[in-house]
Amino acid sequence: MGEFRAMPPALAASESWPWPPIVRASAGWHLLAVAGGVLVPGATPWAIGAIVLNHAVITAAGLTPRSSLLGPNLTRLPEAAAARCEVAITIDDGPDPEVTPQVLDLLDAHGQRATFFCIAERVLAHPELAREIAARGHSIQNHTARHRHNFSFLGPRGFAAEISRAQQVLHETTGERPSCFRAPAGLRNPFLAPVLHRMGLSLVSWTRRGFDTRERSAATVLARLTRDLRAGDILLLHDGNAARTAAGRPVVLEVLPPLLARMHADGLRAVTLPEALAA
Ligand SMILES: [Zn+2]
Repeated sequence: MGEFRAMPPALAASESWPWPPIVRASAGWHLLAVAGGVLVPGATPWAIGAIVLNHAVITAAGLTPRSSLLGPNLTRLPEAAAARCEVAITIDDGPDPEVTPQVLDLLDAHGQRATFFCIAERVLAHPELAREIAARGHSIQNHTARHRHNFSFLGPRGFAAEISRAQQVLHETTGERPSCFRAPAGLRNPFLAPVLHRMGLSLVSWTRRGFDTRERSAATVLARLTRDLRAGDILLLHDGNAARTAAGRPVVLEVLPPLLARMHADGLRAVTLPEALAA
């Protein structure tokens, strides 16, 4: 029952922020259900059912990484970037001392740029690697302080702590302040959007992902990423937590060369998120 009471006070506390329609509708739905349960004899089971259903819908939205129901969420680049034939390759969960340097060499060899959603505690473990990513023309963005597996269950304070700590570490290490955020596995709840809004961060998910932390076949990952590949796409790969091929090679290293070749053949250019979002 504690959950029923949690939402309206939180809504009241952040009036300045435009809550998404589904959250406003939820608050109204809760009030209706409670009023109905109190005022209409025998309606209590229906009221409880209505509230459970409401929470199920909100939870489902939070478990759907590309959903915009819980607030702004970038799944494609803006039209202007697409018109410039730009694609964003995003590479998560690093930096990794074995994989990341090889990823940087592959990107250099093709003259392309990527965005690295780094985990702050890994940046603290390998600060020189983070600085090299930035020095070689790529962008580092915020993927939380610790990539906690229960991230999507945190409340406003937990979100703020994880995200602001990462902002601080990334800024201090690279001199650049991230403007984009990605949640671990893309999972979240209604309290994330107002925290990002307050910190001036944009939530970025993806157009397509290859599931390359689990999938060991580079061909399968490549096929998932290049299905309907076109300008404006945001692609997701991993240099941290990378799955290994049967031969023991990190999958991302097998996927990048054919992906970059395909993009070149299609006339597409890989740019950083700040570059794609600038215009
Ligand atoms: Zn991640």
